[in-house]
Amino acid sequence: MTQFLPESVLVWLPDTIQLMYLVATAFFIRGLKLLNSPQTARRGNQLAATGMLIGIVVTLFDQQIVSFELIIIGVLIGGAIGAILARRVAMTSMPELVAVFNGFGGGASALVAWGEFARTTDVTTFDNTGLVTIGLSIFIGALTFTGSFIAFGKLQGFISGNSITFPGLNIINIGSMVAVLILIGFFSFDPTNPTIFWVILGVSLLIGITSVIPIGGADMPVVISLLNSYSGIAASMAGFVLGNNLLIVSGALVGAAGLILTNIMCVAMNRSLANVIFGSFGGDGGSGGSSADGGDKTVRETSAEDLAIQVAYASKVIFVPGYGLAVAQAQHIIKEVATKLEARGVQVKYGIHPVAGRMPGHMNVLLAEADVPYDLLYDMDQINPEFASTDVVLIIGANDVVNPLSKTDPGSPIYGMPILDVDEAKRTVVFKRSLSVGYAGIDNPLFYAEKNQMFFGDAKKSLQALNEALNEV
Ligand code: NDP
Repeated sequence: MTQFLPESVLVWLPDTIQLMYLVATAFFIRGLKLLNSPQTARRGNQLAATGMLIGIVVTLFDQQIVSFELIIIGVLIGGAIGAILARRVAMTSMPELVAVFNGFGGGASALVAWGEFARTTDVTTFDNTGLVTIGLSIFIGALTFTGSFIAFGKLQGFISGNSITFPGLNIINIGSMVAVLILIGFFSFDPTNPTIFWVILGVSLLIGITSVIPIGGADMPVVISLLNSYSGIAASMAGFVLGNNLLIVSGALVGAAGLILTNIMCVAMNRSLANVIFGSFGGDGGSGGSSADGGDKTVRETSAEDLAIQVAYASKVIFVPGYGLAVAQAQHIIKEVATKLEARGVQVKYGIHPVAGRMPGHMNVLLAEADVPYDLLYDMDQINPEFASTDVVLIIGANDVVNPLSKTDPGSPIYGMPILDVDEAKRTVVFKRSLSVGYAGIDNPLFYAEKNQMFFGDAKKSLQALNEALNEV
């Protein structure tokens, strides 16, 4: 593209390019900051996307290897695929989409490093640092690529969600990682030996598979967040290989953001990252399993008509949404019911657990889609003191995040996980299809509690029935 520019502009071009990279970086950082709150998240996303556009346009002038026509074709094809995927994917399948994006991101970074190495006729011109960077980029990028597709396969059910492992696999994985790092050291001293290069690539691809396959499907969202971080680190490494400041910074931002997110999820589940990676916790995740030991216990059922009377004459009602709300796509109807109750003078709030759903912020995004006012959304610490003074808590497709076993049973896999204290309310009503377990695969004593009633059925249909019944009260 530079061939179209006059000589007087060309003189300033390198500095202008670096300046524009800085502007794009500022857009990314400001965009990330705005993602902090639901009110500003949309603007933050737009700002970061603008930063990316600036980055792409500036790269058209910065390219020295690939022609700008090729870059534009790549952007158009990649952009079209991304747009179609993002529009079609259901909110409950977001982790799968992110897994695929991470996989391609890691793969692309590995390819960039490989390409840079392969196009150099005399590889001895690389210094040691350059070769270590190439090696690391290929290592992290390749393991992110295969690891992400295994994670995708587990979430989609192509691969069993159960932990697939054998004694000693963790040791083999750690040993292989150390071996690859040592090989990268050798590679930096002898880049002319192709065997070392291919072994690094091959073993890295294998590590991606063998390190994700033993992790239970239920832990995949955490793994995906971690792989997201890896894909950022790989991109950052590729930035060092290419000497591209924007790629270094944006990769580092993704790497750091992914790690922070991973940490938030682990803290909210009261588990360590090591326990997630090596603990082989949980099976398929998701719902549909059977009640763990609830066979002969009795539950009290309610109907739309009964419930309509209870909530219509309540003074305070709290909705607790969970993964089932997302599955049922009940976000719009929950808002209709809430609006109807508010019109009758009932005080309505929503209690949001940090890991309700299958990714952080899942519930906030869903409820925002239905235009639920942000000031009605309360996070766990804010809402917990309010349950004792609440007449009815409607738990919509949530299970683990309201399971009292986390407070009472030291043997439970969710013991210590902070939960929403719904059992302190005067009445709880659980909307779900059966007594099936949730993500953690354990029974929930709340279902059998004296103060609890079950409203069986698909959350959307049940809320629609409640909405209609409210017209008759
Ligand atoms: P759970 O997975 O515990 O429970 C969801 C419940 O929804 C199921 O028991 C299911 O019961 C019900 N359900 C499913 N489909 C429908 C439907 N169409 N209508 C009505 N109900 C339905 O979800 P929670 O949100 O309570 O907890 C989230 C879990 O995910 C936690 O264990 C958390 O640790 C984990 N997790 C969350 C992450 C995050 O960042 N948010 C990341 C990783 C893990 P039934 O089949 O009987 O209908």
